[in-house]
Amino acid sequence: MNRNEILSTLKENPDVSVLIVGAGINGIGTFRDLALNGVNVLMVDRGDFCSGASSASSHMAHGGIRYLENGEFRLVREAVQERNRMIKNAPHIVQPLPTTIPIFRYFSGLFNAPMKFLGWLDKPSERGSIIIKLGLIMYDAYTGKNRTVPRHQFLSRGSSLKLWQKLNPNIVNTATYYDGLISDPERLAVEQVLDAEADNPNAHALNYVSMVSGQKDTIILRDELTDETYEVRPQLVINASGPWIDFSNYNLGLSTKYIGGTKGSHLVLDHPELRREIGDNEFFFENKDGRIVLIFPLYDRVLVGTSDIKIEHPDEAFCTDEEVEYFLGMIARVFPTIKVTRENIVFRFTGVRPLASSTAKSTGQSSRDHSIEVLSGDWTSLNFPVYSLVGGKWTSFRAFAEQVTDKVLAHLGKSRQKSTSDLPIGGGRGYSTDAAEQKRQIDGFAAWTGLDRERLQTLYVRYGSRTEAVAAFIKRGTDVSLKSMPEYTRREIMFLAQYEKVERLDDLILRRTMLAMLGRLKQGSIEELADVLAESFGWNAEKKNAEAARTLRLLEERHGVRF
Ligand SMILES: Cc1cc2nc3c(=O)[nH]c(=O)nc-3n(C[C@H](O)[C@H](O)[C@H](O)COP(=O)(O)OP(=O)(O)OC[C@H]3O[C@@H](n4cnc5c(N)ncnc54)[C@H](O)[C@@H]3O)c2cc1C
Repeated sequence: MNRNEILSTLKENPDVSVLIVGAGINGIGTFRDLALNGVNVLMVDRGDFCSGASSASSHMAHGGIRYLENGEFRLVREAVQERNRMIKNAPHIVQPLPTTIPIFRYFSGLFNAPMKFLGWLDKPSERGSIIIKLGLIMYDAYTGKNRTVPRHQFLSRGSSLKLWQKLNPNIVNTATYYDGLISDPERLAVEQVLDAEADNPNAHALNYVSMVSGQKDTIILRDELTDETYEVRPQLVINASGPWIDFSNYNLGLSTKYIGGTKGSHLVLDHPELRREIGDNEFFFENKDGRIVLIFPLYDRVLVGTSDIKIEHPDEAFCTDEEVEYFLGMIARVFPTIKVTRENIVFRFTGVRPLASSTAKSTGQSSRDHSIEVLSGDWTSLNFPVYSLVGGKWTSFRAFAEQVTDKVLAHLGKSRQKSTSDLPIGGGRGYSTDAAEQKRQIDGFAAWTGLDRERLQTLYVRYGSRTEAVAAFIKRGTDVSLKSMPEYTRREIMFLAQYEKVERLDDLILRRTMLAMLGRLKQGSIEELADVLAESFGWNAEKKNAEAARTLRLLEERHGVRF
């Protein structure tokens, strides 16, 4: 069903078993699991899918080695296992990532770690080789038998400098361990929405629909594209609004203070020298006061992050000039001879971590774990319970969603029929990482679509096994390359517009593709893409120009992109 059909069905029948408010990765993961288990479920987001905290991550599928210091052993074990599952279930988007820590001291942090664990130390500090070695031994142990990534390795100063010639010669050694790289989180999210809807005719997801209020047995939703309002009568509401959870509860007449969010920003750099130097490695390290910095290979670009700053209102988060200076300075600490300037920045982004509110003095010590907070009964004005999903990392979304789904199924008196544990996601279904098998699949697509192999190979990198559907669509019409970006064609963009729930131009350039994040947009690209959407959706000139102007403004104000 398309958006209009879902909305008119809702007008006729406002009863749903479960309403999920918020389509970040936690809402989406839960939506998929409930759909798979036959539940009648509606998910709404006031913006696009995966446009909140879930669009601002460091792109790591990781256990969070430093959370060991905070004593979060359960979380680290769960996240390491989930990292392994993501690499297996979504191999088209999540790949093993060698992660290197340049180490500047042997002994530092030796006393801080146990003191932090006991809660006697609040200040972050730099960790030395010994404490890092102990952490990595534990981290490897959590991977268990299900090994999808190699064990960690320590390299001497000499060997490290041979491998990375521009690395700061003041290091004492380096440690390399493995995590996962989520190359395109927004696609991984939307592919799950599509999977869920394909699996269950009673599972529907709507972007640009806000939950505005609720009383007794009714919730009021507002279509943000038309201002029209709709009533829904759910048996249960899942508040998956991430950093906005307390605001959504307020809309329901509930007073909560679950979230103590921290802001984190990132820069994307076009810097071939730095990109060459890091190779396939993420460099993950601490500055002198123990704050984490990462320098990360993202396609042919370099991702640099991140900050961790307390913030009251998530809508006020943006990347400041101070953060930009801080990141540029941190690169110089590790690669002192590589010159990086503001000219190299092609994109910047910021999000708010939906952490549980905490009394910890340093943001790094706030728990990264998740919980389900239940509000129900006489002291609410609602006839249904509200489950708030507090916390939850990208990496552990599946496990969190499973815990939520089990609780919901118990409430509805249903039992679990299927598990997402080994279920491939979207273009990961039938996808192979083996080069010979990839070639065989691409030859097969080429034989029946007539598209050339090089083009199919590009599509395979972007869409995994979903290439088959994209190629079939392309084949059904006359196709031409975009003038401003010949690596894309009109029909490829039309496919995304028609089959991937695109409503606005920025959905396409920020979340269905990596065009904006990787700095691929050229002069004229916005107008050209708006033109393709206008043809797909029947927009008139006024609507098309308004979308283009809005997108240009958004790119400049939020992401520092100028043409
Ligand atoms: C800077 C940063 C770096 C991170 N790095 C990593 C990492 O490398 N690896 C990792 O595993 N995790 C990482 N995380 C954590 C992870 O990204 C988040 O914890 C996770 O994405 C939270 O998802 P969510 O679904 O709970 O929230 P969100 O993604 O914020 O989703 C909530 C949604 O609710 C919607 N909403 C709000 N109010 C309403 C309403 N009234 N009606 C309808 N919809 C509403 C919003 O529009 C939003 O889309 C990082 C987070 C940040 C901020």
